[in-house]
Amino acid sequence: MKIAVIGTGYVGLVTGTCLAETGNHVTCVDINTDKIEKMQSGILPIYEPGLELLFHRNISQNRLTFTTDLASAIDQSQIIFMALPTPPNGDGAADLSFILGAAKDVAGLITDYKVIVNKSTVPVGTAEKVKAIFKQYTHIEVDVVSNPEFLREGVAVEDFMKPDRVVLGTVSERAKKIMSDLYAPYVRQGNPILFMDEKSSELTKYAANSFLATKITFMNEIANLCELVGADVDSVRKGIGSDERIGKRFLFPGIGYGGSCFPKDVQALVKASDDYAYDFKILKSVIEVNDSQKTVLIDKVIKYYGDDLSGKHFALWGLAFKPETDDIREAPSLYIIKALLSKGATVTVFDPEGSENTKAIFGDKISYAANAYEAVKGADALLIATEWSVFRNPDFDQISVLMKERVIFDGRNLFNLDKMIDLGYYYNSIGRHLIE
Ligand code: NAD
Repeated sequence: MKIAVIGTGYVGLVTGTCLAETGNHVTCVDINTDKIEKMQSGILPIYEPGLELLFHRNISQNRLTFTTDLASAIDQSQIIFMALPTPPNGDGAADLSFILGAAKDVAGLITDYKVIVNKSTVPVGTAEKVKAIFKQYTHIEVDVVSNPEFLREGVAVEDFMKPDRVVLGTVSERAKKIMSDLYAPYVRQGNPILFMDEKSSELTKYAANSFLATKITFMNEIANLCELVGADVDSVRKGIGSDERIGKRFLFPGIGYGGSCFPKDVQALVKASDDYAYDFKILKSVIEVNDSQKTVLIDKVIKYYGDDLSGKHFALWGLAFKPETDDIREAPSLYIIKALLSKGATVTVFDPEGSENTKAIFGDKISYAANAYEAVKGADALLIATEWSVFRNPDFDQISVLMKERVIFDGRNLFNLDKMIDLGYYYNSIGRHLIE
């Protein structure tokens, strides 16, 4: 099939590349000229495990191309995906201007039947708005399909190639047939393609992300309580996770959820509910708790050193909002850096992939180490914000020599408590006993 993907970010590029991998011809469109030029010369603009191999293979086999020219991209394509940003606007609602603007542009260009597929996360009613735009600007028949994306950055290729489910919101039989054929290679193991109406599909995505954000937040509160009552959150986590109704996944406490999706999607669902005069109380609490959880490590630092951190030097391991990505959008690390700087401290950071993006925000206000050991050199304390595998089993002999003091504030519970006692560290983690 011939496909256009409008918006070549984390979702669009993974979608385009993975659709090319099963033999489709995909043209990815973006308004960012730099990005398109990079991709045209074979440079992948994001870090995503497994993507590079597929990217090069499909480019070399002429199934994957990149352009800034929307008209040429959609001319030959039967299916047009939109993977455009839906950032929060001032009141937390999703900003639909990218989607609706692109819909208008596409409507002005098409000359035959197209399936318009929305992959962005959008509020209920967006498909209707997109349909209305096509009605207004063209007489050509189109079907508008809601196809929310559930991929996780860091394992995005795997998630796209073998999705737990594909959700398709459309009542058009013609579009259903085209989309079933397109997705058939990805669900060969028997995972379902779930057809539903557009509104249910749109809400499914928000419900999924809000549920996951709630699950994390619940565990973070349990962890906070563990610290107060002297319980161990790892034991509690295993104790509840072995109940199949709860499940083992997404129960690890930490320093709050971040990323480009959970914060904005929870906010957008609250706003959409408010618009229908529905007070979504649990999600409002989730937002409030998560905001305070983001600074829980700083609270611990202040309790230890006092409010004035001038003269103190901190190492920070982890910038990305989670491991295996270079994405730092809404990452807890950013809040930690800001807080440390505002209290007079100096900071050296290390992240396997996230440093370049962080430089764009903090520039030379902080130092960037080439590896985890360089980062801890001369540090009064080490803070950990992202659970990259490379941080899990470091050489503590080396670290102990390099650091000024043996002090760790661990926002991701990477280390064994007994080990930290043996090594003689002050070790303050989340929801576990304090080692001092
Ligand atoms: P992104 O910011 O990484 O990429 C969006 C791209 O769209 C950018 O490259 C931008 O230059 C381009 N763009 C903007 N306007 C354009 C236009 N008019 N024409 C062509 N290109 C244009 O965003 P993303 O993370 O890929 O997210 C896209 C959507 O998918 C959002 O709604 C997001 O909520 C949703 N989503 C994201 C993820 C994720 O993990 N990142 C997962 C599931 C769903």
